[in-house]
Amino acid sequence: MRDKIKADYNVHGISHINPGSIQDWSTVEVNKIFDLLEGKPSDLGLSVLESGMINPVRSVSGFMFLSENEFHNCILCRKVDCPNRRAEFEEEEYINSL
Ligand code: SF4
Repeated sequence: MRDKIKADYNVHGISHINPGSIQDWSTVEVNKIFDLLEGKPSDLGLSVLESGMINPVRSVSGFMFLSENEFHNCILCRKVDCPNRRAEFEEEEYINSL
């Protein structure tokens, strides 16, 4: 999807941030994103679990934005062995985000 957006809009730096990736943005706020999409997620078979995780698993939501320097919220995430990690965890950035 990132590659398609880059090609379709002729842009380079795309960053992404999602609920649960930073201290003040809980995973349950995925519901607000789904509300903004007015039923489209359920049309695609997506639902939000009570925990804020999306079913089917490995589905993600969030916001993409253009930026000169790509930001991946993975630098703030302590999850070990995540198959979707886009950037190494950065302890100092994590502490600064608290
Ligand atoms: S490391 Fe995995 S769980 Fe953590 S923010 Fe990145 S993709 Fe999400």
